Amino acid sequence: MSSRHFDAIIVGAGPAGSSCALALRDAGWRVGIIDRKCFPRDKVCAGWVTPEVWDLLGINPAGYARNHVLQEIRRFRVGLIGGHAAEFGFDRVVSYGIRRCEFDAFLAERSKAVLVEGKQVRSLERVRGIWHINGGRWQAPVLVGAGGHFCPVARHLGARPGRCEPAVHAQELEFRLPPAWRECINASCPELYFCPDLRGYGWLFRKGDWLNVGLGRQDQAPLGVHVDAFINWLVSEGRMPELPEARMRGHAYLLASASHRKVVDDGVLLVGDAAGLAYGSSGEGIRPAVESGLMAARTLVHCKGDFSQERLREYADALVRRFARGKTARDWPAWLVRPLFRWTGFVRRFVIEQGFLRSYGPFLQDVDRA
Ligand SMILES: Cc1cc2nc3c(=O)[nH]c(=O)nc-3n(C[C@H](O)[C@H](O)[C@H](O)COP(=O)(O)OP(=O)(O)OC[C@H]3O[C@@H](n4cnc5c(N)ncnc54)[C@H](O)[C@@H]3O)c2cc1C
Repeated sequence: MSSRHFDAIIVGAGPAGSSCALALRDAGWRVGIIDRKCFPRDKVCAGWVTPEVWDLLGINPAGYARNHVLQEIRRFRVGLIGGHAAEFGFDRVVSYGIRRCEFDAFLAERSKAVLVEGKQVRSLERVRGIWHINGGRWQAPVLVGAGGHFCPVARHLGARPGRCEPAVHAQELEFRLPPAWRECINASCPELYFCPDLRGYGWLFRKGDWLNVGLGRQDQAPLGVHVDAFINWLVSEGRMPELPEARMRGHAYLLASASHRKVVDDGVLLVGDAAGLAYGSSGEGIRPAVESGLMAARTLVHCKGDFSQERLREYADALVRRFARGKTARDWPAWLVRPLFRWTGFVRRFVIEQGFLRSYGPFLQDVDRA
């Protein structure tokens, strides 16, 4: 087989694409991943990773921490923007902070797939059961769309990002902490502040010597207004000094409950943000990206060469069972929000434990049914 021909081509080397690639490689497939960026590349993201992600990936966090930034989290400061906030501690590590430039490069390399970097997928065509990428530059019978929210494979299947899709829009800035800031921002207690209408939240998240600050919301209103108000409020509250002169970076994603994208067709399926799988209460997208990558690989291996839409539908059904459930935080009536956020028992149980940290339940038995 030449460097043009693969058993499967994956578009996008984020967590979804790399997880799928590794599982297919383990099954003996020859896999090519095409990414428009060169690695290590950054990805707009806060960098929370729940403990289950390490289990899914089969990675020991302590081993990862030897060469990469890994912030253990046992404590949060949680409140409303412009309102009350309190700290909540846990007797175990409940989440981790990573830097996406490091994490994604690590996963891509570990996948052992042929990584074609710095090449944008521009055209897709299926001729007699074979996908031709960019006019035939790369060819494979199976195509996996893992290119994130704006994935070209998702567009090929009919997705129209930005039009009629109720996406979450988010902005963040990640930078190395100036030495003078290290005293005033606590690495062991990241901060989460919810919008009073519960349509989103902002964060102040220190990961070792790096700080990530940002805000995401699920609505059509201009995000910049909310971001500016949040940053000004953090500064006025003394939570951080003025931000350096740097542009916030933005991106979008779909919550699973709001995603109606077609995810399979003959010889093709979508994984991760391309399918729109983020968890409603937190926006966690890395875990569903990894899970869906593994689920897709498993289905493809089960197919034994029959990659028809009918055969791949088992993957689409498994995604519905696994991710299309759960209510978003917006379900709380707005007039109740301020009093509820003063009640620490409510914030601990419903906002942190059952909302921000809960994500999806156990993984494997659902995949086993697929
Ligand atoms: C501001 C913000 C903060 C977030 N914070 C968190 C968080 O803390 N924790 C969490 O779990 N989730 C978070 N998310 C969501 C999370 O980032 C995504 O759900 C996750 O990255 C999805 O992974 P993926 O592999 O599906 O896609 P991505 O990580 O987006 O990877 C897609 C890849 O495809 C490549 N690509 C795109 N188009 C093309 C093309 N035409 N040709 C070739 N390659 C292409 C890109 O270069 C990229 O490498 C956040 C999202 C945002 C916007």
